[in-house]
Amino acid sequence: MNRKSPFSYICNACGRCCHDKVITLSPYDVLRLARAAGITTREAIARYTIRRGSILKFTGGGACAALEGARCGVHRGRPLACRLYPLGIEHGKDGDGEKFVTLEPAAGSLGVYGAGGAVNDFLDAQGVAKYLEANAGCASLMAVFRERIAAMADFDRVEPREFWRRAVREALAESGYDANPLIDAMFDADAVGCAGVGDAETIAAHIERLAQMIRRESNAELLAAAAVMLAVSIGYSPGEATGSR
Ligand code: SF4
Repeated sequence: MNRKSPFSYICNACGRCCHDKVITLSPYDVLRLARAAGITTREAIARYTIRRGSILKFTGGGACAALEGARCGVHRGRPLACRLYPLGIEHGKDGDGEKFVTLEPAAGSLGVYGAGGAVNDFLDAQGVAKYLEANAGCASLMAVFRERIAAMADFDRVEPREFWRRAVREALAESGYDANPLIDAMFDADAVGCAGVGDAETIAAHIERLAQMIRRESNAELLAAAAVMLAVSIGYSPGEATGSR
């Protein structure tokens, strides 16, 4: 589907879609979660996420860590995936060729699907524009990563496929991963001097700080793991980082 395709959805706040999901978070998602909860990004990472800030936390009972009864406790700052639901978005390279797909409704969901509007109306009502804009800004960092990795990696010593295989494994590990200041800075915007109100200026500052850190980093393995993490967190495949997608 594209933005003009017929689509509508009315959420009846049953909370069923807030269970048993794997929801990937972008740096902007974490910033908005923090602002909605009135806490720092570091606290938001600890309270609402797993895998260094990149995945929304669900409890042992299957409920999202932000769910309060049947209501979202961070509704104002809910992540992009929650705003889009029951749509998903797929991107072409560097944000070109976005495509929307409908997701399977949660079992027993009271949401009502229809075709009384267009995808675009739904996106507007859900306030997704800032999220997509922030993710596009993050996507621009992929070129900075590629340039720095090309300069720092010694592909005479390490076979490129093995190099990227390790980077993907490191980025997607749920535990036992190495410290990576770039990944920390990606999700903990406040820690790199971006404490603010979560508006476009804050995002621009965060992206600029990350670009500076990438250009200063000389460890190719750290750069590659962070590049994969960023690609996945904004909805791309790991191949976006490796240049093989
Ligand atoms: S962040 Fe809110 S809307 Fe998203 S899954 Fe959690 S409770 Fe549901």
